[in-house]
Amino acid sequence: MLRLSGGVMPQQPMAGFGRDYLAIPGPSVMPDAVLQAMHRPAPNIYSGELIDITASLIPDLCRVARTKHHCAIYIANGHGVWEAALSNVVAPGETVLVPATGRFAHGWGEMAQGIGAEAQVIDFGLRDPMDMGRVAEALRADTGHKIKAVLGVFVDTSTSIKTDVSLLRKVLDEVGHPALLMADCIASLGCDAFEMDEWGVDVVVTGCQKGLMVPPGMGFVFFNERASAARAAMPRVSRYWDWAPRANPEEFYQYWNGTAPTHHIYGLRAALDIIHGEGLENVWARHERLARAIWAACDVWAQNGPLELNVADPQNRSHAVTSLRIGAPHGTALRDWLQHNLGLTLGIGLGMAPPGDPAWHGFFRLGHMGHVNGQMIMGMLGGIETGLRAIVLPHGDGAVEAAADIIAGR
Ligand SMILES: *Cc1c(COP(=O)(O)O)cnc(C)c1O
Repeated sequence: MLRLSGGVMPQQPMAGFGRDYLAIPGPSVMPDAVLQAMHRPAPNIYSGELIDITASLIPDLCRVARTKHHCAIYIANGHGVWEAALSNVVAPGETVLVPATGRFAHGWGEMAQGIGAEAQVIDFGLRDPMDMGRVAEALRADTGHKIKAVLGVFVDTSTSIKTDVSLLRKVLDEVGHPALLMADCIASLGCDAFEMDEWGVDVVVTGCQKGLMVPPGMGFVFFNERASAARAAMPRVSRYWDWAPRANPEEFYQYWNGTAPTHHIYGLRAALDIIHGEGLENVWARHERLARAIWAACDVWAQNGPLELNVADPQNRSHAVTSLRIGAPHGTALRDWLQHNLGLTLGIGLGMAPPGDPAWHGFFRLGHMGHVNGQMIMGMLGGIETGLRAIVLPHGDGAVEAAADIIAGR
């Protein structure tokens, strides 16, 4: 039979038929209940259920972040709430400490520079957890307490490294440094177990389009009393980003500082019902089980050939996103084949090599956040197995079986 040079059988692409699967680390798959809740005519924004539903979101969002404190909602993506959080507690000329385990930490630091702050970055590279000793050293060296906040990314979505944020709090306490502890939970809230109050996190930011399963467009900033006090001591705060009226609105429009994101409110209500209906701890456990199945498959593929998990120690891996190394150009070849032939979309490698550099094509990522179950993950893994065969890349045999054992609980 005729074969193309890459070993790919000439065949009719099968994408576009059946249901496509977007397995990227956000935006994530949306539950039908979320889509159905949003499919409605424009609602009244002056009175009626929209006002009550909005008020009902706040305690249920706080339950996801595990905080008894405050929540401000923004019409914004993750970058928006990065800036929102910073604008409330960091003044121009102040310093933020950025212990970085991937591209997103650098991005948050750049956002701080954009509002006139200085970002002191400690770069831990792309594969390793933070060295808390180096964080302690940087804080200890700051005898004048110029560092106003430590910006910790809980799960860096580029590398899939998960940081033990409770250790950052311990380091701050041991050094006796008064900086606020701020955490980016955009990739991972509602996926990886996270405890804002118990871990002593002062500010948490997240978006709605990953673990919260709503189309992009809403962001959330959670903050405690320490952060509130820091906000009150600011010389000025941008009127739009100010979290105080949003978290404590006297009028409905103050939640949003303008028109409400009407349909997102309905979508988020449905999503929070799903999360709390399942139970947050069950949600975490499901993500862990599915992540372990993915890692088991990847470990088998890695036994023969270039595919490799980016993070060696499972302790330091997210349960929401998995970053892989496969060597250029195989990452792009695999993604393209799956996209065009199976309707399966995998995430691009992000921040692992500069765009334009041929090495950029040697990475890919899997999103497994939010509305995912065993058959979707088995389908994704079976799809990748198919793609590895199609592009004729060596790989260990039995990966899908290894994942099946984990999901079967064997
Ligand atoms: C997705 C993500 C962001 C950026 O969110 P946008 O909505 O794309 O602006 C920031 N940080 C982390 C950890 C993320 O996963």
